[in-house]
Amino acid sequence: MKLSPNDTIGIIGGGQLGRMLALAAAPLGLKCHVLDPDSNAPAMQVCAERTVAAYSDKAALADMASRVAVVTYEFENVDFEAASALPLVRPGPRALEVSQDRWIEKRFLAECGCPTANTMPVATPEAAALAFKSFGGGGAILKTRRLGYDGKGQHRLEPGDDAAAAFTALGGVPCVLESVVPFAFEVSTVIARAVDGSVKAYECPQNTHAGGILRTSQVPSPLPDDTATTLQAQAAQVAEALDYVGVLAIEWFVLPDGSCLANEMAPRVHNSGHWTQEGAFASQFENHMRAVAGWTLAPTHTIAPVRMENLIGDDVERWRSAVDGGSSRLHLYGKAETRPGRKMGHINHVG
Ligand code: AMP
Repeated sequence: MKLSPNDTIGIIGGGQLGRMLALAAAPLGLKCHVLDPDSNAPAMQVCAERTVAAYSDKAALADMASRVAVVTYEFENVDFEAASALPLVRPGPRALEVSQDRWIEKRFLAECGCPTANTMPVATPEAAALAFKSFGGGGAILKTRRLGYDGKGQHRLEPGDDAAAAFTALGGVPCVLESVVPFAFEVSTVIARAVDGSVKAYECPQNTHAGGILRTSQVPSPLPDDTATTLQAQAAQVAEALDYVGVLAIEWFVLPDGSCLANEMAPRVHNSGHWTQEGAFASQFENHMRAVAGWTLAPTHTIAPVRMENLIGDDVERWRSAVDGGSSRLHLYGKAETRPGRKMGHINHVG
C-alpha cells in the first residue's frame, strides 16, 4: 500500500517522537492521527486528528485504524495483541514482540549475528543470586525483562552485592542479569528500511548517558568507518529478519579493543537520531514517514556535524541560549510540566 499526499497516518503514542513524526510528515502533505491517553500530549498539539484513549483500548485503536491508511507507533510498549488486530501496521507487530522483552530481544539480536553481553534470564531471587555468582565476581546489571526505559527497572550490582535482594527490590518480576560491559564509548545505528526492502543508514553517532538516560549524541564519532559499516550491515540484517518497514535503532557498546556488543534495539525513531534533523539530508522522522507511506527513502548522508544535547528536567531553562545562539537549533516538546528525568526538548548544536 502506497499513500498519496493528503492521506493520513495513524500514530500510536503522543510523545515527542510522535510530535516530530507528525511535523516531518506535514511538508510531505501527509496528515497524522494520534492516539494517546493524554489530550495534551506533545503530538496532540500538532496532529490533524486525535483520539484520546488508552493504548490497550482495542475499540479505540480499531476506530482510529479505520480512519487512516496505515498505522505506526512511537514507542515499543504498544499492546502486541491490540496492534496485531489492526489491518496495516508498519513496522509490523513482530518488532514489538521482540523488543518488548529484553531476553527475547537479546536472543533475537544474537540470532541475527549481533553479539551481546553475557546475559541470563532470571525468574526468582535464588536464580538471580546463582546467575550473579556464575558471572565470576564482576559487576552486573539486573534489568526487568519488560517495561524498562531511561534507566528505570534496573539495578547495578557490584561484586559482593545481594542479587536476590535486588531482584525482590525490582518487584520480583522476570528479569535478565547482564554482565557490565567495560565499554570505551557508546554508539548507535539508525537505519531506515522501505517496503521494497531497500535500506539506508545514517552515520553512527557517539552517545553519552547519565543515570541511564541519553544526554548527548554527536557526529562525527570516533568509530572507525569499517566498524560503522559492519554495524550498519548487522542492523540491516535485523531489519531484514523482521521484514521491517520504518526506522530501526540499535544501541552498541564499543570495547577498548574495537569490538562491539549490541545493547538493545528500538523499533522506532530514536533519541540518538535527533541530530539528523539538522545534520542529515533528510531526518530520521521524514524517512520513517516515507517508509510507512510506502514511498522511497530520502538520502541519509550527513550534511553538517551536530552535537545533540537533551534538555532533561530543569535543563529546559536553557532554551533561551539555543534561541539566541546562532548555530543552535531548539526543539521543545510542549510538555506542560517539568519533572526531574523528563525529556523536555533538545538542542542541535550545528558545526
Ligand atoms: P539500557 O536501559 O539498557 O538502554 O541502558 C541504558 C544505559 O545504561 C546504556 O546506554 C549504558 O550506558 C548503561 N548500561 C546498560 N547496560 C549496560 C551493561 N551491560 N554494561 C555497561 N553499561 C550498561
